[in-house]
Amino acid sequence: TKKPPVLQSFLSLVFRRASHLARQQYDVIVVGGGHAGTEAAAAAARVGAETLLVTQKTNTIGALSCNPSLGGVGKGHLVKEVDALDGLCGRAGDWAGIHFSILNRSKGPAVWGPRAQLDRQRYREFIQSELLSTPRLTVLEGSVEELLVTEPNPEEPGHHRVTGIRLANGSHPISASSVILTTGTFLSGSLFVGQTTSPGGRIGDAPSSAGLSHTLRERLGLRIGRLRTGTPPRIVKDTVDLSLTNLHPPDSHPTPFSFLNTHTRCKPEEQLPCYLTHTTPGVDRVVRESLHLNCHIQQDTKGPRYCPSIESRVLRFPGRSHQVWLEPEGLNSDLLYPQGLSMTMPPDVQLRLIREIPALHRAEIHTPGYGVQYDFVCPTQLSPALQVKSTQGLFLAGQINGTTGYEEAAAQGLWAGVNAARSALSMPPVALSRTESYIGVLIDDLVSRGVTEPYRMFTSRAEFRTSLRPDNADLRLTLKGFEEVGCVSSLRYQEAVRVRDGLQNALAALQTLTLSTHLWRKKLPDIGMSESKSTILTGMDLLQYNDVSFEMLASVFPECLSPYMEFSQRLNIEAVYRPHCDLQKKEIERIQKEENMTLPQDIDYFSLPVSLSQEVREILDRVRPSTLGAATRLQGMTPAAVVNLLRYVQHTG
Ligand code: FAD
Repeated sequence: TKKPPVLQSFLSLVFRRASHLARQQYDVIVVGGGHAGTEAAAAAARVGAETLLVTQKTNTIGALSCNPSLGGVGKGHLVKEVDALDGLCGRAGDWAGIHFSILNRSKGPAVWGPRAQLDRQRYREFIQSELLSTPRLTVLEGSVEELLVTEPNPEEPGHHRVTGIRLANGSHPISASSVILTTGTFLSGSLFVGQTTSPGGRIGDAPSSAGLSHTLRERLGLRIGRLRTGTPPRIVKDTVDLSLTNLHPPDSHPTPFSFLNTHTRCKPEEQLPCYLTHTTPGVDRVVRESLHLNCHIQQDTKGPRYCPSIESRVLRFPGRSHQVWLEPEGLNSDLLYPQGLSMTMPPDVQLRLIREIPALHRAEIHTPGYGVQYDFVCPTQLSPALQVKSTQGLFLAGQINGTTGYEEAAAQGLWAGVNAARSALSMPPVALSRTESYIGVLIDDLVSRGVTEPYRMFTSRAEFRTSLRPDNADLRLTLKGFEEVGCVSSLRYQEAVRVRDGLQNALAALQTLTLSTHLWRKKLPDIGMSESKSTILTGMDLLQYNDVSFEMLASVFPECLSPYMEFSQRLNIEAVYRPHCDLQKKEIERIQKEENMTLPQDIDYFSLPVSLSQEVREILDRVRPSTLGAATRLQGMTPAAVVNLLRYVQHTG
């Protein structure tokens, strides 16, 4: 599809804004146009809710605040799943990608990480134009000053209901049945450079108003924590000596994120390389010498574990040389993003530091790095639908829930959007299990375990990663997304059904190909089949051999298998994992059963007549897990406590 240029996009937003200002009532209001907010707004509208997206600046909708890249190990899985549920980020990534690569290729395909470096402007352009063409969605530029909530219900002390928002410009309130807050790093945000601190959510952007934090903390009584992150200086490309770096070209065949794209839009000449270089002892020295000038690092020398600053890497691992990736910021951008050099010292010291790296010895900084500290809402106060348990109709998604990263934000945004719309339209909430998706793992981890540092997705967080692969996200989620959730278009659904049927037919064809090992050896003399006895093997059995591919089998049995050549890669992967996935089925069923056993939200855990320690009662009372499955995963739950709780649920339910 042809996308409108930025200016047109911007003008259309302004037009829509003007034409809709009169409206004062929506089903769903989304606050914030970042990665969570845009997915939330689009998903709510797809489900059928009249939706309003309010954001501070319409021209920053879809902005990539930090690294212009999408995906990676674990994060790529989330992008594929968001796409399978008809979200935006996968297609936007395909549109804007300028360096596609699959990370972790040395491991099995279940943990490959699809990733792309992006052109910032194109990404933003795509997201903005998608929102403009989404029916039932209105975009309004403005800063939300206040969240409107009812007084607590005397029958249910502490329980409120959201009724809408009020903007900072003093205009009339806008009401809605559901409100989704996706304010990212903006909630009581402070920016740090050297010894200077200023209020802000991101460089150039004001923080969220104090009114919003006040409502969450004081009126709704939510537990709020504080987190920190940072970004590196942007470097002028022409001033870098690229001959002193190692060149990393993109994959020769770009793999798209979206199941709707069989190839990316990128022409080969629009694929740019990345460059790898390393820090030197001089970098360590500058970090140490400037610690007294660096208030962000003084407050917490360890910093976040994921995406740590160069200061905390130097302090944690003295004397070690660290990788620095120099990544393009866009096709026509003259800037490089130095991944690994996030820093918060004064700008003149930042310049001294980067010049200690040989390839950067004459480099110039375009924008200095900075740190940001912000409030987040402890996510154990949310239900699996991402609704605040104590406030009907209030949903939270993205960095406000203690996560970091665009993909984590997008995944939560989509799911909060779905549930906010369903709540507004009087439909029951829907949940995603950790047995069926990384989105389920992410949400379950957040609401059951909470966070003590910015949460980032890794494949190691998913117990069933051999089933939850990037290649099969459409089969896991698109059908459910259409049939049960209502967030998937019929076009995408039909494509998923076509793929599902094609794969089923291909697997059936492979099963019917039965030959003795002797005959297989004759047909495929190059394969290293070790069986000495002659047994009967199906085509599917054979595909599990390392040196056999679907393409090879199709060349021997073209009449039977060649109709399925478009699925060859998926079939190769399926064959490798099928035996393991079959073994996992029982465990998955057990967890799903536990997830179906709901725990009433009003249980008084302190007087529950079962044997539970005081510590376990306190944990259960604080988190109030919504299912037995979620209770089993709480930190501090003992196996005995789980058994006793199970007995109680079986007895009462
Ligand atoms: P954001 O993308 O931040 O979007 C929030 C939106 O809400 C903004 O559009 C803002 O204008 C709007 N908004 C806020 N308050 C209001 C209000 N009251 N009214 C209306 N609109 C409002 N991620 C990583 O994975 N690795 C990193 O190294 C990394 N470093 C980062 C460094 C910095 C300095 C920053 C700012 C972010 C960094 N991130 C990093 C995080 C990444 O940008 C976020 O995880 C991601 O953007 C979160 O998406 P979000 O939608 O939750 O919030």
